[in-house]
Amino acid sequence: MTEQQQLSQIYLDANATTPVLPAAAQAALATMQTQFGNPSSSHITGLQAKQIMEQTRSKARAVIGATSGQVIFTSGATEGIQTAILSALYQAKQNYNSENKPCILYGATEHKAVPESLKHWNHILDIHAEIKAIPVDKDGMLDMDFIAKEAPNALMICTMAVNNETGAEQDLAKLEQVIRSNNPNTFWMVDCVQALGKVELDIANTSIDYAPFSGHKLYAMKGIGFVYIREQAPFTPFIAGGGQESGLRSGTENLPGLASLNVIFDELLGQGRGVFATKETLCDYRDQLAAALKNAFPTIVFNNNFSCSVPTTLNFAIPGFSAKEILDLFDAANIRVSSGSACSSKVTGSFVLDAMGLPRAQSEAAIRLSFGPAATQTEINEACERIAYCAKALGHSCLVNMNDLDNKSKLDGLVQFKVGGSCCWLFVDGQSREAVIIEPLAELTERLLTVIECQGLTLKAVVDTHGHADHASSRAHLLSADLQAQTTDHLGWPTHCGTVIVDNHTLPFIDVGRFALVRIATPGHTADSISLALCHKTELQAGKFNSLYTFCGDLILMGTIGRTNFETSDATQMYHSLQLLQGLLEQDSLLCPSHDYNNEFVTTLSAEITRNKLLADVLSKRLTADAFVQQKSELDSHIHDQANQEIMCGALTSCSQKQHFTELNKDTLQNHLDSNEDVLLIDIREPHEYALNHAQQFDNNVPLTRLANFIGSQLLNKSQPLVLVCRSGSRSSVAAQALARLGFDHVAHLKGGYALSN
Ligand code: PLP
Repeated sequence: MTEQQQLSQIYLDANATTPVLPAAAQAALATMQTQFGNPSSSHITGLQAKQIMEQTRSKARAVIGATSGQVIFTSGATEGIQTAILSALYQAKQNYNSENKPCILYGATEHKAVPESLKHWNHILDIHAEIKAIPVDKDGMLDMDFIAKEAPNALMICTMAVNNETGAEQDLAKLEQVIRSNNPNTFWMVDCVQALGKVELDIANTSIDYAPFSGHKLYAMKGIGFVYIREQAPFTPFIAGGGQESGLRSGTENLPGLASLNVIFDELLGQGRGVFATKETLCDYRDQLAAALKNAFPTIVFNNNFSCSVPTTLNFAIPGFSAKEILDLFDAANIRVSSGSACSSKVTGSFVLDAMGLPRAQSEAAIRLSFGPAATQTEINEACERIAYCAKALGHSCLVNMNDLDNKSKLDGLVQFKVGGSCCWLFVDGQSREAVIIEPLAELTERLLTVIECQGLTLKAVVDTHGHADHASSRAHLLSADLQAQTTDHLGWPTHCGTVIVDNHTLPFIDVGRFALVRIATPGHTADSISLALCHKTELQAGKFNSLYTFCGDLILMGTIGRTNFETSDATQMYHSLQLLQGLLEQDSLLCPSHDYNNEFVTTLSAEITRNKLLADVLSKRLTADAFVQQKSELDSHIHDQANQEIMCGALTSCSQKQHFTELNKDTLQNHLDSNEDVLLIDIREPHEYALNHAQQFDNNVPLTRLANFIGSQLLNKSQPLVLVCRSGSRSSVAAQALARLGFDHVAHLKGGYALSN
């Protein structure tokens, strides 16, 4: 695969939705163009439409084994779920006796449509039964003892046949036995959405009262589904109106959807084109994918137990990588998978995996890979090949260490790692391969060790700028044998080092190849706070203090100043530390704080002065030390740390203002390029994503981890027109905003990113 080659899409997110089978799409098209009648019309066109509908219904019955009861067409499973819950609870309300302490049970791993609808109808119908989640075990299997205990008082029990995140398949026969032996009359709904086409159903031979299904999870159109209702089960129409579906569900039927479903049923009944693979073949596909994943990522952990899951779902985590990173990586290889967790900075994890009791890290990093019965060996082969490419791409950018790779990209300069709002910095002298780490974070230990080994770096020091209140330093885990032998203070600063005199201050420094890291005592936030300035050694030796990057800890944070209400804080000292730093640094020299709560990456004194009046007043000496202490104490009183939440290291004095940058789209991009001759096109994704696939025009790659380094290199060239692109437009927008804030005045980004530009 060449870098520039446009890759075809490998779609492995079938549990979210599937493409429509070509024959199903054709059948739907025919009902829009030729057989477009309304099934309620009594003329021939209407009768033809009705024939399609009734034929589809009888095929639906055959597929699920519904020899009795009703099959009603709906817009999808969510509507089927409403119909079932409304019907059951409305009936339950008639026999309701609050003294029995009635409850409603649902599986803890149910699709959100179920508990949310239960809450809704329980409230609307004024029932106020207690809604209880049935716990599951580590494989996602329902707790039968819990059901046996609670079933006698249950108005309704909602379970699912197959889980959408893990593919876990419940033992319906056993479940029925437990439910019915404890409560023969409770209403039982089984969400069969993910079971259709994957599990044999013989519904008439069960006591399931309601079973919702959805078309778009099995190659039919979106907007069509059906619900099975047992013969004796109560029914209340969810939609009233023109009396369609024998008055059970009004509204003109979705004939194109029905026609597409009809074709799918043919496949399931063995009357189609034989597009669906057998269960054995699907198991074989799963084994091939699992082997490819294991081979590519040897530390992978699978979150679902294959022995009790349908073969079409694999759920896994790759230790050391967030779900978002893997999702971005696979997306770059044009493999579509989904994450179990919300891809935001405030990671929420997967409630399904949480309910199964899996470790939080596994839940937060969960990736779901799912395919459907129409998958082919060719697709699986291609997917396996691309998974291997994905791992190699990580190897090239040293996120995994692969000894057999030769052309690894060589790191040079500053790398900014982030965990939540905390920053960790790695600086590498590209020539000597000497490096320092500042503010080591425990979450990054493995990643840092891999980078150090893979890049052949010699660590000169691992230093914290102060004893952090919000996390423990992970320095000890990063030290090589050489460094362990080095004596340091408690922050990791070497006891034996050189000194240099700058503005009458004697400052200690250590060598990092051609650079020197200079230590400046800047107490205030804590008594031990220091700032570290990275300078060219030759300049420093020539008596010129010109800091390229100043790691200022929590002294100056974006939009604020570090808090001074810790035990060892001293606001007076902070006042003097701020002035000391101002005396040493240029206004536009880059400050690299230990926190970045708002995705601004780095800052400068001049950028902070414009939005932080308190800082401006200190630096201009408009404020005395005493007045500063007073104002600072008032400001810090607004910080309220909440239990289990990140400790905020400063009180925000100003909200970040939206800066101006240009938003381009596919149509305006070319025009913009034509009218800006020396424009620099920058792909802002991670190097492994970039290596897998990028637009030819974008021959610069500056991932967010290297944005600080890029800003440092462009400080004298802020008017250079820049166009940034990423996968979805979100990272490029964040980077454009950060650049614009620091005075880069010709920044544009591609809204919608690569996703919308093809
Ligand atoms: N139930 C399960 C298990 C599902 O996976 C889904 C869809 O994600 C639904 C219900 C909702 O289905 P629909 O999109 O047809 O409303």
